[in-house]
Amino acid sequence: MENPVAHDAEAGGTGSGDDIRPTDIVFECPHCGKSLAIDYHGAGLTIPCTDCGEDVEVPIPEGMEVYDIDSSEEEQEIRILNLRKSLVAAEQRISELENQFEALRARHERLEDAHGRVGGRFAVITAQVANIRRGLQELAGALEKISAAARE
Ligand SMILES: [Zn+2]
Repeated sequence: MENPVAHDAEAGGTGSGDDIRPTDIVFECPHCGKSLAIDYHGAGLTIPCTDCGEDVEVPIPEGMEVYDIDSSEEEQEIRILNLRKSLVAAEQRISELENQFEALRARHERLEDAHGRVGGRFAVITAQVANIRRGLQELAGALEKISAAARE
């Protein structure tokens, strides 16, 4: 990248076409007080004053990151594209996880159903066992009566 060059920022100066562009940083030379303008790519650079020739540090405008200055539009576009790609990848991952979660939830529900059915079956078996036990007790009682009668 070509280094930006400061130019005269004083209105109605020489009329040499040194207009201030919207992308220019306008500042004053601390040595001679000359009003200077430089393209924003010059932020943070040390340049010679166009008037007195002293080295002047170009101020970095508030809210501007040096990173913004260093990246060309192309680089920033690539960065945005990469961010979009990451975003798409993240969204795909999220939807994968949502699908996995949905599958696990459905499986969990099926297991709960199965567990409920097993539980139901177990209750039936318990009732049947209780019936059989009652039957056996009745049978034992009947056998006792029979054996008592046989001893008489
Ligand atoms: Zn100066």
